Amino acid sequence: MYFQASEDDFKPQKPLDFGTSSYALRPAMYDDVTQEQWADWRWQHRHRIRKLDDLKACFELTDQEVEAFVRSEDSFRVAITPHYAALMNRQDPACPLRLQAVPQEGELTTYNFELEDPLGEEAHMPVTGITHRYPDRVLFYVSHHCPVYCRHCTRKRKVSDPNTTASRAQLESGLDYIRRTTSVRDVLLSGGDPLTLSDERLGELLKELRAIKHVEVIRLGTRNPVTLPQRITPELCQLIKDFGPVYVHTHFNHPDELNADALAALQMLQRAGAVLGNQMVLLKGVNDSKEVVFTLNRKLLYAGCRPYYMLQCDMAQGITHLRTPLRKGLEIMAYLRGRIGGMGVPHFVVDLPGGGGKIELLPEYLERTYDGPDGEVLVFKNWSGERFEFVDAGEK
Ligand SMILES: *Cc1c(COP(=O)(O)O)cnc(C)c1O
Ligand code: SF4
Repeated sequence: MYFQASEDDFKPQKPLDFGTSSYALRPAMYDDVTQEQWADWRWQHRHRIRKLDDLKACFELTDQEVEAFVRSEDSFRVAITPHYAALMNRQDPACPLRLQAVPQEGELTTYNFELEDPLGEEAHMPVTGITHRYPDRVLFYVSHHCPVYCRHCTRKRKVSDPNTTASRAQLESGLDYIRRTTSVRDVLLSGGDPLTLSDERLGELLKELRAIKHVEVIRLGTRNPVTLPQRITPELCQLIKDFGPVYVHTHFNHPDELNADALAALQMLQRAGAVLGNQMVLLKGVNDSKEVVFTLNRKLLYAGCRPYYMLQCDMAQGITHLRTPLRKGLEIMAYLRGRIGGMGVPHFVVDLPGGGGKIELLPEYLERTYDGPDGEVLVFKNWSGERFEFVDAGEK
């Protein structure tokens, strides 16, 4: 598990590469699109790839991808923004971005241990649209739509389903619940993706939340900086400034997602006073590699976004093919510690099934203990595999 430090660790690393705007990489089907259209998030939203014909026009699909598309269409729809498609490898089905957005055969296989609502979110709903599990904080679902539907989504049961869209009445009843529940200090706007709402709607929500005396922390969980960075506009940033500080949790899973457009979006958010943190989900073939996570975290820190969580993929239905063994996450943690500053080391977290909440896993640094003359002696292994003894003299 421990990675002996080597000379390579002390050599200069490859410079970070944010590439170009996705416009320069756009698939041939968008040849006639202007740069202004491409930069307009409404255009991106309207032109999302949703049908098999569009998918075929954009990608060289394998037979199994076609089959998976057809058979998953009714349960969990496909949507891919032209921006996100432009960052993918259109020939290679193993492209780490493509794996997150184009259905795979594995989705069609379900296992007995999988759960429709893996985190027991519906069971902890005091009112529709609010999950209140911890004493001080709530998840507030304000939209069930996202620019791209991630194949590993834990909320597949409702995300992308037009019948479950949060109505105005539902948002009102959520706000009412927060107003009357004075233990709630921290509100996490979630979904779906809250940036699917219009600026006007989002502004109203932020304003109402700020007006509640006991609400101290407002957070936005959004994948828009990854899948639709064009959504980060000066108008949106003004809202974040007006009602800030707003903590923004992004969801970058791979360094290729953090391109020039995403970097610009993060910088705009940061300049508007947003406090940025990333929630990565560990996924097989996407980021189950210490080098990939290391590079992603370097890029995130450069962009002013701290790696916050590295989440074990949970037990939702039809995502087992994307799950990694727990030891993979521990191995990545052991590699990161020491090789990147502490700000680049996330918490490795498992969200327990059935609503147990999050627990944190750490590599084992304690090797053994023995009784010394002055107290217990603990033998630790450090990040590079060397042993050190710590005398726990107790309270003298
Ligand atoms: C993850 C989660 C939160 C936020 O947890 P933090 O650890 O504070 O980021 C709040 N409520 C629920 C139900 C959650 O799953
Ligand atoms: S952005 Fe989040 S809520 Fe939306 S599909 Fe992806 S994982 Fe699910």
